[in-house]
Amino acid sequence: MKTEPQKSEAITLTDVTLRDGLQAESKTVPLDSKLQLLNLLSQCQFNRLEITSFVNPKWIPQLGDAEKLCESWFKKGSTQETMAFVPNTKGCERLLKFPIPWVSCFVAASPTFNQKNVNCTIDESLKEIESIISVAKNAKRKIRVYVSTVWGCPYEKEITASHLEPIFQKLSKSGADEIALSDTIGVATPSTVRAVLSQSSKFFPFSKIALHLHNTYGFALANVQTAYDVGVRSFDGSLGGVGGCPYARGATGNIASDDLRNLFFRQGKLKNFPKPEIEKTLDYLRNELGLVLNSSLSKIQEKGGSWYGIE
Ligand SMILES: [Zn+2]
Repeated sequence: MKTEPQKSEAITLTDVTLRDGLQAESKTVPLDSKLQLLNLLSQCQFNRLEITSFVNPKWIPQLGDAEKLCESWFKKGSTQETMAFVPNTKGCERLLKFPIPWVSCFVAASPTFNQKNVNCTIDESLKEIESIISVAKNAKRKIRVYVSTVWGCPYEKEITASHLEPIFQKLSKSGADEIALSDTIGVATPSTVRAVLSQSSKFFPFSKIALHLHNTYGFALANVQTAYDVGVRSFDGSLGGVGGCPYARGATGNIASDDLRNLFFRQGKLKNFPKPEIEKTLDYLRNELGLVLNSSLSKIQEKGGSWYGIE
């Protein structure tokens, strides 16, 4: 396993506020506000934004406006790289009407979580992923597969290497461009992150791995640092840490993408921190959308403090 990553390997930050963040919020954000949020996020210099999900609106009414959002957004001709989630091939076909370069889809490491979430077995999900990949590749799109509940499941509790092995095995032959190892309920620790990455490295190079962490117990930044030290360079977050997990009561949102950027910025691994743009977007989430923010930076901002070391 590679232990000393090259310094030149660039970090990729994906902000998932509009998808993972908003889908877990109980209130539905109106289309105009989402477009405004998307416009603000596109100025925050994230490498990629996950902007919506082409699910059945009956399942996730918060994201029932995927087409309308994309129709308005892509008229503007923004150069921001985007990604959107699809639950199945039908969703993928809806996505392909828009110039979205990244298609994301899902399988859970926990059989019960998979069943409750998409109403099918893991094997059925992996089959569906194969067909999504073939449809998306035909249209020259890139694919991210989220493997959720990698570090723990609200129903089955512990997830072991034997849960992960057959999934990694199949996905390694699937043609997916990126595997997002996801700590859906936020229970990973640095040592379990190390263990899973050691296992995943037998199937995927670190350049194909992304880490999607939630921060329920406050370990997410430590987990990011551990993964970085091992060789991972792609990380997800939501601004201000908005969101949660509708299937696990008390689970908090994603790691905050503002804190994530600050961690790398402070260590000189990212050159700039777009302070005015991030401040403005945090303000919008808090004051216009009325969301509760959990990031360290947003709390300092809320109290009128200054961000030490960020000019
Ligand atoms: Zn998530």
